[in-house]
Amino acid sequence: MKGLIRDLEQLVGRDSVQADPEDLLAYQADATGYFAKGEPVAIVLPADVEAVSKTVAYACEHGIPITPRGAGSGLSGGATPIKGGIVLDLKRMNRILEINHGNLTAQAECGVVLADFQRAVEKEGLFYPPDPQSMTVCTLGGNVATRAGGPHGVKYGTTGNYVLGLEVVLPDGSIIQTGSSCVKHSVGYDLTHLMTGSEGTLGVITKVTVRLLPKPEKDRTIIIVCESIKQAVETVSEIIARKIVPAKLEYVPSGAIRGMNRYINPPIETEGGAYLFMMIDGSLSQIEEESEKIKNLCQNSGVLSVKVIEEEGEAASYWKARTAAYPLLLAMVKKVIIEDVAVPRDQIASFAESLEKIAAETGIPIGMSGHAGDGNVHPSVIVYDLTDEVEEKAQKAIKMLIQSGLDHGGCISGEHGIGLHKSSFIEMELGARQIQLFRDIKKAIDPKGIMNPGKIWVEEGEAC
Ligand SMILES: Cc1cc2nc3c(=O)[nH]c(=O)nc-3n(C[C@H](O)[C@H](O)[C@H](O)COP(=O)(O)OP(=O)(O)OC[C@H]3O[C@@H](n4cnc5c(N)ncnc54)[C@H](O)[C@@H]3O)c2cc1C
Repeated sequence: MKGLIRDLEQLVGRDSVQADPEDLLAYQADATGYFAKGEPVAIVLPADVEAVSKTVAYACEHGIPITPRGAGSGLSGGATPIKGGIVLDLKRMNRILEINHGNLTAQAECGVVLADFQRAVEKEGLFYPPDPQSMTVCTLGGNVATRAGGPHGVKYGTTGNYVLGLEVVLPDGSIIQTGSSCVKHSVGYDLTHLMTGSEGTLGVITKVTVRLLPKPEKDRTIIIVCESIKQAVETVSEIIARKIVPAKLEYVPSGAIRGMNRYINPPIETEGGAYLFMMIDGSLSQIEEESEKIKNLCQNSGVLSVKVIEEEGEAASYWKARTAAYPLLLAMVKKVIIEDVAVPRDQIASFAESLEKIAAETGIPIGMSGHAGDGNVHPSVIVYDLTDEVEEKAQKAIKMLIQSGLDHGGCISGEHGIGLHKSSFIEMELGARQIQLFRDIKKAIDPKGIMNPGKIWVEEGEAC
């Protein structure tokens, strides 16, 4: 062990290596530390791509597992170093290298925190829409590696829709540039989008080039208080069917609203059975017209109330509360597993009904929240007691809701990725042949299997 630490210090400098037991503890898991933990032997904090390359080449030569890590905010165990080895903490690589007005693109190092990037871009009148709700901590590299998304997904898509090019350190330490900063690029296999969503299993993303948009002229927040989840779901279907595409459209369960009222100013009534937080954006005339349409549609469908928020501070308080929803829920219950299933938008109502049945059958409370407009649902599975019996019931509920998502024509993850926790479900969606293809691609790029081993699919004979 000492030899390994000494070698790493020689390669990247003493300041870039940590191996004290208290330092290692902080890297045992991502935000899902309540599931599984790993035991890394060293943490390397590279300052540049050369240090990444040297570390990865060393790990390759010695067959040492290496786990890339952004902020460790992942919700699928992706950055959990389950096979030990080296964790590569990329947060020091946090420079924004270019914001190009003429080309509507930007380039940044992988460790830039998303909120910092968005602020820098918006200061220049531009817009980078992907908005995972962990934006104050998560990194651009982590977003690309998980193909992260957020409320803006309904109108603007997710990270994968914005990535144009990447700098990647491959598992042998070589450095490649994929894609380009051109809007169009048709040159061979699309390695950029193979690396996007690869969860650290194919290489280390060190630089990211993304597409930007002009910042929309105006936006407006509309809050709809519904009697029930059913009414909320039907209202969403009506809005989409009228060809209104909101910038954001989120479900908030009634159980969450009391906690969220700590942020909402002035607080909202708590009598609703389900809430919809919506944002529309565009030109002033467009948002005036859409607000009217939405108000009329909601009044006709008999929702409890529709509030069109004119005051900017008040509107912002709703979105701050939405961002805080998961940490607030964590503070209220012993353990909550935030699931991540996406279904076609016309299947949301039926999927929501199936969640109620699964909750009744297993005895596990399941909250319905998520990105209503794009069909990405985050059922919150409440583990109300930390006993084996309740954990077993919760796992049964998870399996059932994943199967229900698939039965509704959906997929097992809309944005969090597969990582460790969903690896035993992936074959249910993709089948054995596709998983074999994944393995073959992995073997071609990472023949020694050092990059983030134990993730995405279950190895033969291995139970995750
Ligand atoms: C409160 C909260 C809210 C969240 N809300 C959302 C949401 O709305 N939408 C959403 O999509 N996710 C959400 N997440 C999950 C998480 O924040 C995202 O998955 C995010 O993209 C992870 O970024 P990270 O920098 O923390 O990556 P990490 O958690 O450190 O890593 C995630 C995966 O990417 C790999 N990786 C990280 N950086 C690199 C790199 N540079 N090169 C190669 N591989 C890399 C890791 O090995 C791992 O497999 C939320 C999490 C929390 C805690």
